Amino acid sequence: MELAWKVAEGSEVRLADYDPDYTAKNTSHSEAKEELDKLGAELDGLQELMWAAHHHSLLLILQGMDTSGKDGTIRHVFSHVNPQGCAVQAFKVPTEEEASHDFLWRAHKVTPGRGALTIFNRSYYEDVLVVRVHNLVPEEVWTKRYKEIKHFEKLLVDNKTIVLKFFLHISKDEQEQRLLAREKDKDKAWKVAVGDWKERAYWDEYQKAYEVALSKCSTDKAPWYIVPANHKWYRNLAIAHTLVHVLRGYKDEWQADLEKRGRQALAELRQMRKEAHK
Ligand code: ADP
Repeated sequence: MELAWKVAEGSEVRLADYDPDYTAKNTSHSEAKEELDKLGAELDGLQELMWAAHHHSLLLILQGMDTSGKDGTIRHVFSHVNPQGCAVQAFKVPTEEEASHDFLWRAHKVTPGRGALTIFNRSYYEDVLVVRVHNLVPEEVWTKRYKEIKHFEKLLVDNKTIVLKFFLHISKDEQEQRLLAREKDKDKAWKVAVGDWKERAYWDEYQKAYEVALSKCSTDKAPWYIVPANHKWYRNLAIAHTLVHVLRGYKDEWQADLEKRGRQALAELRQMRKEAHK
């Protein structure tokens, strides 16, 4: 059972068809907390195995409108994960140096090496989202980027990077509630940004830009998942669940490799001791 919707390669996404309020049947808020703890512990074990086996790396991309919960997801879903072998990269407005290179340059440098997990909080998808909405580069430049992104992700996958991309789907009303809540809560007021209200005026354009990016760039090997994100507890559960299910598929391979390495190491040790006693 999938808790987030995987976008099939070649399909045309219409976000209006996906309910941001959705919570799967048979899950309640309180059960979800328990379930998230269990999934978190399993994720920790799987990450440790991936780190030790050194076969694959994992790139996890989080995208969504302002307030959709990218930071909250990182805090809650990855709270169990060992910081060793785990990194978070945030993608802001490009610096002068970044802007003087191709748009994938700053991303490629920080993709995870073998064994490592890297979370992209926003990503090179901004170059077909904010850039498209505000025409920050000419259309003939950004239209080519969908293909370039697919090639880039294929390169990563061919080099044993597991690529998973999550779109945190909230409604326009929910965003308004969250922005207003920040103003009222003195502990959250630091998050208030005039820019968030300004960007909100472009809601429809952003939804369109997301639809095109999800449709053009979801592939079997590097899929996009649409995560219903109006309910934070369900968002966390859906992401943790998807992640654990994907990683479980690699567990046997990683374990078998570690056992083989363990046998080799013991054989070498026995050999060394035998020679020492000659
Ligand atoms: P947060 O991710 O928490 O919202 P910020 O408020 O600093 O962090 O937002 C980062 C901003 O950087 C976003 O508005 C995003 O659209 C912008 N950004 C990221 N990548 C690019 C890019 N390639 N070109 C222009 N703006 C970008």
